[in-house]
This record gives sequence, structure tokens and C-alpha cells, in this order.
Amino acid sequence: MLPAVGAGARLARVADTIFTRALAQAAAAQGSSQALAYQLHVPENTLLRWMSGRAQMPLAAFRRVIELLVEHEQSGAQPQALAPAEKLDFNIGEVFARCARCGGTQFAPAVAGTALRMTSALLCGSCTFSVKHGELLNQLASQAIQHSRAMLALRKRPKAPPQPSAKVIRLGRR
Ligand SMILES: [Zn+2]
Repeated sequence: MLPAVGAGARLARVADTIFTRALAQAAAAQGSSQALAYQLHVPENTLLRWMSGRAQMPLAAFRRVIELLVEHEQSGAQPQALAPAEKLDFNIGEVFARCARCGGTQFAPAVAGTALRMTSALLCGSCTFSVKHGELLNQLASQAIQHSRAMLALRKRPKAPPQPSAKVIRLGRR
């Protein structure tokens, strides 16, 4: 069991993973965070807050980041990450990317030992259903953002009336 954490801590972890990694990759691909901010039509300060995980980027911006990474890959630039031979899972906090067919959470690159591009095919470890890496990340981001919204909504719900405190039963007499 994971220790219980508040929604704030969950959001912080959300910001810590796939979003910030994709942003860092995209900023490197564009040459600077300033260039990436221009591409995303946001002030650089906003982008820096997303990159540091201090603010949650919107889904539309994440999709654009994936698009930019795909374009960069298609331009012939060398991506840095090599696909590992072992199976991978992709998660943002407690939300895992799942196979659309069987719900499996483990994926293996279709071609091991090559670069893991956004357009690389990943195969489900359970049923070998194929999905594009970038599409899987988009799905995951959308689920994670829905999830964190749901957690926030839960937090904002009016509090349940306080439970009556347990009665202390005294045994014996003084
Ligand atoms: Zn599957």
C-alpha cells in the first residue's frame, strides 16, 4: 500500500513525470525554452512554471508538445533515448497508460534496440496490440488530467458531518 497523500502532493507528482520530460525534450529540440514558448503561444514564464512542475499544463499544450516532438523526429534529428529491450510502463502518478484492447499496462518497443521515437510502435506485453508511443502518451495525459480534476473535485466537496466520537466505556467502578 502507498501512504495516503493529499491531492496537492498528487498534483506535484503529476507535474514531475511525463509532462516535464516531454517539455524538456521539446525545449531541447526547439533550441531554447523561449523558442518552445513561442511555438506553444504562451509567455515564457508560463512555460517555465510548467517545466518546473509548479503548474499543470493544459492537455491541448501537451498534445502540441508531442506534435512538435514528432515533427522534430521527422526532420531527421537524432532523438536521444534508445528503446530498452525490457517492457515499459508509462504512468503519471497513480494513472497508468493501458492497452486499448486488454487493459494491460506493460509495453515493449516493436523493434528493440532502436530509438524510442514518438512515432515508434509499442506492443502490449499481454496481447501484442500495437499503439504509437506518442498516442499512448496523449491518452495517458488526458486520463491523468481527468484524474487530478476528479481528485480536486473530491477535495472541494462539502465535508461530511463530523462522526460522533466514540463513547468511552468505563469498566469497573471507582
Ligand atoms: Zn493488450
